[in-house]
Amino acid sequence: MALTEHETRELRGEIERRRGALIADLRADAERVRNDRFEDLAGAAPDPGDESVATLIADLGHANMGRDLSELRGLEAARARLAQGTYGVCAVCGGDIGFERLRANPTAVRCVDCQRLHEKTFAGPSTSSL
Ligand SMILES: [Zn+2]
Repeated sequence: MALTEHETRELRGEIERRRGALIADLRADAERVRNDRFEDLAGAAPDPGDESVATLIADLGHANMGRDLSELRGLEAARARLAQGTYGVCAVCGGDIGFERLRANPTAVRCVDCQRLHEKTFAGPSTSSL
C-alpha cells in the first residue's frame, strides 16, 4: 500500500531528526579531531608508542565519521526522493516499500522481497561465480 500523507509526514520528520542529530555528531567529531591535532602540536615530543596510539584513536574517529557520513548520504538521498515524490517506491521492482519497513529504516530503497534477494545475491556466505 502506498504511503498516506500522514505516514509520509511522520517519516519526513524522522529523516529530518536523524539528519540533524548526525550533522551535530559530525560537527562534534570534526571539532574533536581539530582539538586532537592541536594537542599534538602543543604536546611535548611524545615517545613513538604514544604517537601510534594517538594515530589509532584518530583513525577510529575517522572510521566513525565515515559511517555517519554514509548514513547522512542515505538520508540526503531519501530527502531527494521525498522531494521528487518517489519516496517509498522500491528501486528494483517499483512496488511499495511499506510504512513499517520505512519507519524501521527511513533510508530503505528496496522492498522487503527485493532486499532479501539483494542480500542473497551480494552478501551470501557462499558466493558462486557465474
Ligand atoms: Zn521491490
